[in-house]
Amino acid sequence: MTVPLLDLTPQYDAIRSEVDEAIRRVVDSQYFILGPEVEALEREMAEYLGVPHAVGCASGTDALLLPLMALDPRPGDEVIIPAFTFFATAGAVWNAGFTPVFCDIDPVTFNVTAETLEAVWSPRTRAVIPVHLFGQMAPMPEINALARERGAIVIEDAAQAIGARQAVVPPPEHDNGNSWIMAGAAGDAGSFSFFPTKNLGGFGDGGLVSTTDDVMADRVGKLRVHGGRQMYHHEMVGTNSRLDALQAAILRVKLRHLPEWTAARGKNACAYHGSLRDVAEIVLPDALPGNVHVYNQYTIRAQRRDELRAHLSGKGIGSGVYYPVPLHLQECFRELGGKEGQLPETERACREVLSLPIFPELGEERQARVIEEICAFYGRG
Ligand SMILES: *Cc1c(COP(=O)(O)O)cnc(C)c1O
Repeated sequence: MTVPLLDLTPQYDAIRSEVDEAIRRVVDSQYFILGPEVEALEREMAEYLGVPHAVGCASGTDALLLPLMALDPRPGDEVIIPAFTFFATAGAVWNAGFTPVFCDIDPVTFNVTAETLEAVWSPRTRAVIPVHLFGQMAPMPEINALARERGAIVIEDAAQAIGARQAVVPPPEHDNGNSWIMAGAAGDAGSFSFFPTKNLGGFGDGGLVSTTDDVMADRVGKLRVHGGRQMYHHEMVGTNSRLDALQAAILRVKLRHLPEWTAARGKNACAYHGSLRDVAEIVLPDALPGNVHVYNQYTIRAQRRDELRAHLSGKGIGSGVYYPVPLHLQECFRELGGKEGQLPETERACREVLSLPIFPELGEERQARVIEEICAFYGRG
């Protein structure tokens, strides 16, 4: 029995008729760019996240780029991001015209904290991007407090964390159902990706910006259509970053199923926890108290990581290394002067992390195979 790291086929099979009907509806309308399907998705996402504004765009990368462009960077302005994230976080900062400044991570959650951000803060810091890595939110209350005190903007990279939540502290006086805040609703703006491997994935590229800020929403809405809502009248230089109606129609179907898929990921995570807890050579990922983790990835730390990965691969079991190279040591950022040893927890994570199959349709039998082979590799059972 082989076990892929991710298989998207069973998800499509389960909702094929609903999705095919949505595709047919768009094709029949011949309305392909923005339009009513995109507007409906934006309304439904805004409601799901509990924010006033959601603006669809062409990718998760652009969902970072557009709010950064909206800040109108001057040369030398800095944005702090973790060195341990997908490249897009840094690429968007660079392409918007900011200088990326890399900070370290908390070893337990793989996320930035107020402390790791503060360690690299400078008078030129205009914004920070906490990345909710693997599906767990960074500690937003302390990050917001630091940013507010110093007048910086907070953009959440929620590409891997749609549906993740965090308890509001202090808890509201009367629990009126608002004692949780969703990823993408906790900062000034949030960036989502609908890349097919994300928890809510389209049939191609897509992204969305969430925001509580009316001015930000207005600017992002213009920047995605070349900087002006009225055709041939441009207030800013934007870009083409529109969301397709086909993607929006498919995503609207899938959004309705997201809670059940998220629950299945959580159940798989529980099963790994229960069975791998006693393997001393590995560290399991955990949700901090007050966090709902949505497990876009189930990422362990493993001694002899590369050997374990080769063993699993030899048994037909897929795994992934997210991410092998820290951003401060990437060739393209050499001029920023990153040095080995500068961000020790990031560099250690790059050597130790291994992501295991966690997709909702994994099933008990295939998951048991993964567990069995990890135990076998470390000489247990
Ligand atoms: C996937 C991802 C992105 C970029 O999303 P795309 O849709 O691929 O452009 C950005 N940040 C993180 C953390 C991601 O995982």
